[in-house]
Amino acid sequence: MLPLPLAGAFDYHLTVPLRRGLIVTAPIGPRQSLGVVWGAAAGGVEEARLKQAIPLRGEPILPTGLCDFIDWVAQYTLSLPGMVLAMALRSRQAFEPETARIAYIRGEGAPKKMTPPRERVLDIAAHGLARSVPQLAEEANVTPAVVRGLIDCGALAAVDLPEFDPFPVPDADYARVVLNTEQDLAAHVLKGAVKGRRFGVSLLDGITGSGKTETYFEAVAEALRQGRQSLILLPEIALTVQFLDRFAARFGVRPAEWHSDLSQRERRRVYRAVMRGEARVVVGARSALFLPFHDLGLVIVDEEHEQAYKQEDGAIYHARDMAVVRARFEKCPVVLASATPSLESYVNAKNGRYAHLRLTRRHGAAVLPEVRLIDMREDRGDPGTFLSPTLRGALATTIEAGEQAMLFLNRRGYAPLTLCGACGHKLVCRQCSAWLVEHRYRKRLVCHHCGYETALPTECPECHAQGTLTACGPGVERVMEEFKLIFPDARVAIASSDTMGGPAEMQAAIRAMMKREIDVLIGTQIVAKGHHFPQLTLVGVVDADLGGSDGDLRARERTFQLLHQVSGRAGRAEKPGLVLMQTRNPKDAVMQALIAADRDAFYDQETKYRQAAHAPPFGRLAAIILSGHDGDKVQEAGRILAKTVPAARSVKVWGPTPAFYSLLRGQTRERLLVQAEKSVDIQAYLRAWLRLSEIPKQVRLVVDVDPVSFF
Ligand code: ADP
Ligand code: ZN
Repeated sequence: MLPLPLAGAFDYHLTVPLRRGLIVTAPIGPRQSLGVVWGAAAGGVEEARLKQAIPLRGEPILPTGLCDFIDWVAQYTLSLPGMVLAMALRSRQAFEPETARIAYIRGEGAPKKMTPPRERVLDIAAHGLARSVPQLAEEANVTPAVVRGLIDCGALAAVDLPEFDPFPVPDADYARVVLNTEQDLAAHVLKGAVKGRRFGVSLLDGITGSGKTETYFEAVAEALRQGRQSLILLPEIALTVQFLDRFAARFGVRPAEWHSDLSQRERRRVYRAVMRGEARVVVGARSALFLPFHDLGLVIVDEEHEQAYKQEDGAIYHARDMAVVRARFEKCPVVLASATPSLESYVNAKNGRYAHLRLTRRHGAAVLPEVRLIDMREDRGDPGTFLSPTLRGALATTIEAGEQAMLFLNRRGYAPLTLCGACGHKLVCRQCSAWLVEHRYRKRLVCHHCGYETALPTECPECHAQGTLTACGPGVERVMEEFKLIFPDARVAIASSDTMGGPAEMQAAIRAMMKREIDVLIGTQIVAKGHHFPQLTLVGVVDADLGGSDGDLRARERTFQLLHQVSGRAGRAEKPGLVLMQTRNPKDAVMQALIAADRDAFYDQETKYRQAAHAPPFGRLAAIILSGHDGDKVQEAGRILAKTVPAARSVKVWGPTPAFYSLLRGQTRERLLVQAEKSVDIQAYLRAWLRLSEIPKQVRLVVDVDPVSFF
């Protein structure tokens, strides 16, 4: 199997006995590729035509469990297996032999003349680890020439060090916490599962701040005691920094991390250490699911409901679901943790397929915040303002009391729409059927889909009227502007994924909040998740109705989850929290569930809706997305697919219809949606169908099994 977009495995002549997972180099066309021995060939290729596959030095092996997992993911997602394999071979250098590093220790010789700088170097070299020339020079505060002089006279002796420093093993007992009764009960079940070395899923369902992390850390500790590896998945890289520190506080050292921002070298280091079992705990984004664990004993998916777990390009897969599958292949337990589980996991816990571990109380004195709705149809400020008098009042009280507040609006930039007041023309992206978003700090109009940017025009591009372009609706920058007008002296920062200073500025804002260097943090969903701000007592949701009207089957669930998570930021320490939600639909079921703090009532009702609609998890869905630069061809492809829909009871096909973003990055897009009863093998159905239809070459066809996004 080659990590390339090819239909399947290729036949080669192998120079050593067959072992599934053996990593080789093999010629493909004019070049050599890395490859993995997948199994015995079916035969039928003439011996003379077979090329040779040669094992890498040291004969590294991809674990069989991982190979089986790759096959499974490819078949489930209808991806090319080579594409899935590519996700597991993310560091080619990891298989190359290690190069030694030269370092120095105190040697037998002595310099002719001893000087204070020389003495300092020799003093340092006499103690502890071997050090490189630059390290010695820096620690002794001398020039490298001084160090080299000592090497020449034999006062320093060279030793070979391995290329990488070893990963320190986290200490299960480094800083144990005393769990409360509920936590202890849950931890007991999880530890038992780790000891049992069997596959099983637990839903760790605990309100925000109830100690889910502390609790699953006990399971990690157990895996460490068993000498096995653990994988902790987090939905976003932005969350890892805080998490790594927290892990270190509990286990004495930071875990290995894995995500797309690692350097080549770090990637190679972590990949090797995972493969050899030296990295005992890996914290990572969804791609960590494809690492070659030597002996995986536990998988944790934190914030399991997060949409970020769905990979939307390349091989399309849902990391939470695939984590469960990986754990099954590894015969180890998997823990899904959330305060607002996905409806899928909730239903599985209710019907007993998953162990349901509940944490119902916040740790210590903290209680859940009170949630109040602000009806924006009545409680309104001046036109063009977005903070209601009630919210303004609450902000004033909080700031005066020396406490912290957060304003949440899930919209980047200054305004989501710019419109000509004279002719009504809306500024849209030329590449995408989407509005251009004004970013006032940068003085740009930006497309959030393709990244297209342009300066803010002075006249309407349609009617050429001057000065008529008007910003409509708020983004976080606009909320910031309004806030500063009302509270000129308050210390405030903005945190959004695209602030001017990039991720560093966002991290700085979050840190400033943590250290109480600011009074108010204004942010998008990046601030909604995971963070623990002890002094935060007020959360204001600027527009609670955003997202509710998307009309897709998960819109209500998502809105509930997001608003519940945001609310959970308030009152996490001794002082009680207050959440104010600005809405125009106070009667809406989502809003009512939030003020009643009756999460399960909302989930149970949502379960009934889904059941009645045969929607997931009670039925199956798959989307087919057609796209291409030639709009006619895309439509033709849609017609061809529509003509070849196989008739089957219990399967319905909707479309083709233009996608919500019918134009994206210059490509026309059409969608079809397949809805099937739970008992239907939807993959087999799709395969049979797609085999029948020859769609034009210029059109790209993507299958999205269990779609999360309906755009
Ligand atoms: P969750 O993951 O459920 O939001 P956390 O695990 O982050 O909750 O816990 C919230 C806060 O309470 C953290 O600061 C955590 O360290 C603290 N905490 C939770 N349980 C305990 C405990 N048993 N002993 C001490 N501190 C705890
Ligand atoms: Zn665009």
